[in-house]
Amino acid sequence: MRINKLVLCYSCAILSVSQSQILTKFSSCLNEEGQCEKRKIAIIGGGIGGTSCAYWLRKSAGDSIEIDLYNYGKIGGRIAVVEVNGKFYEAGASILHPDNLYMKNWAEEFGYKKRDSPDDRMGIYNGVEFVFEESSWSFVNYAKIFWRYGLDPFRLNSHIKDMLSKFSKIYQLQDSGKAFETMPELITAMSDEFSKQLNLTFRPFLKEEKGFHERFIDELAAAVINCNYGQACEEVNAFVGSVGLAGAVPNLWAVNGGNFQIPQMLAEKSNSNIISAKVNHITINPDGKYTVQATDSNNNLFNSTNHYDAVVLALPLISNDLSLTIDGVDLAPHSGTYQKLIATFVRGKPRAKTFGKEDDHLPDSILVSETRLLIKSLGKNFDVNWTKSSPEHDNVYKIFSTQSIEEAQLKELFEEIKEKHEVHWFAYPKYKFDGVSKSTSFKIADGIYHVNAIEWAASAMEMSAIGGRNVALLLLKDFDVQ
Ligand SMILES: Cc1cc2nc3c(=O)[nH]c(=O)nc-3n(C[C@H](O)[C@H](O)[C@H](O)COP(=O)(O)OP(=O)(O)OC[C@H]3O[C@@H](n4cnc5c(N)ncnc54)[C@H](O)[C@@H]3O)c2cc1C
Repeated sequence: MRINKLVLCYSCAILSVSQSQILTKFSSCLNEEGQCEKRKIAIIGGGIGGTSCAYWLRKSAGDSIEIDLYNYGKIGGRIAVVEVNGKFYEAGASILHPDNLYMKNWAEEFGYKKRDSPDDRMGIYNGVEFVFEESSWSFVNYAKIFWRYGLDPFRLNSHIKDMLSKFSKIYQLQDSGKAFETMPELITAMSDEFSKQLNLTFRPFLKEEKGFHERFIDELAAAVINCNYGQACEEVNAFVGSVGLAGAVPNLWAVNGGNFQIPQMLAEKSNSNIISAKVNHITINPDGKYTVQATDSNNNLFNSTNHYDAVVLALPLISNDLSLTIDGVDLAPHSGTYQKLIATFVRGKPRAKTFGKEDDHLPDSILVSETRLLIKSLGKNFDVNWTKSSPEHDNVYKIFSTQSIEEAQLKELFEEIKEKHEVHWFAYPKYKFDGVSKSTSFKIADGIYHVNAIEWAASAMEMSAIGGRNVALLLLKDFDVQ
């Protein structure tokens, strides 16, 4: 009997010697009858952060835990596709860096292929003219880049290489079981330099610390940050700025068939009970456990019958759209303003003249360096199953803007519009320092964790995957399961 109990209850084996011992909530799974009950965890949010957390929890704790994964909408959250003329296009997170190890390893483990990428030409538009345009010939490109920006692009490569080499330390730290209570602690553990970058705005960092020239910052860096984070180099911190610039180097990739497949497979592998519902309120019960109140897809209110030992919030706490409350817990210090972003998909033909071009030869990807313009970027899009071997495709363009594009404005941008779709996002934090100190703790209260604290360093799929693993490690440390 005792042997059975120890096998069933490996995480509290040491404590199970005396059943009369006073046991803390997390250090034991024994119930009043001395039986080992599985610990129950509610994860709220089924994006890459929540599914990563579920996956790592299951991997480390095996059958000793039960996971309920609450999510509204499709699994994947901000990793999602939109249908245009019968084909699917990435509407949210679209590109990954080759050094994003978790995403890369999962894609390999789950047998997903990398998507073919078309050879497209990029141009930087400043609101008046194209200040830089790539050529279809790589040797011409080198000459053009060198002519316009001198050695700065090479400086950029070495800065990104150095950053990624420091960043890779997080994988060793997490493999060895290290968990962090706050986002700055996690970032600083990779490098002290990163901690400095969190507190510096991007422009002075690039100029004064790294020696980049004004022209490179005003054009290339500004266009990349405007397109990737909808903000200016004066607004974002140097860490998120560098993460954004890492998205401008070659060899970026995406999952053939859609990036959303990774969170979907993580959810499946985690063997969680997936509950399609929106959580509105979390109650802390007298026994110290948590219950969850939610509305299902038919808007019916229901209370969970499960009493959870811990709750993981794997969703952005958006102060401009906060609908979740927790008994006795003020979520305001943990929430912040998120950037509204609209992805407009148009099947048609852009109007070259609007961009100051007399010929029809527009770059395939237009990055806008002037943040005050309505659009942040306009680029030709290829569906998630496009291959180089069957290269035919529809002329579908994706525009990022912070406001809806009105009909008249769209007609100015396109000479032909066959079809239009809008996807609205609260896309990523507004990084501008507003003088209010913000909590970036992965632990909001006893037993309540928050994956998206990591987004205040930088928002990206890999960042949320890392945040998810950190919360899994933190929670298991509290449960005394290592
Ligand atoms: C347009 C756009 C482009 C981007 N491009 C890139 C890119 O190219 N590369 C990159 O790496 N990153 C990119 N990102 C950022 C990336 O998408 C995010 O950083 C990442 O996907 C966040 O994942 P998450 O799981 O933390 O949050 P989310 O994906 O937001 O997941 C949260 C989930 O929780 C659910 N939810 C919220 N509230 C509740 C509730 N009360 N009850 C139940 N469920 C709830 C939501 O429906 C959602 O499914 C982009 C983002 C956007 C919007």
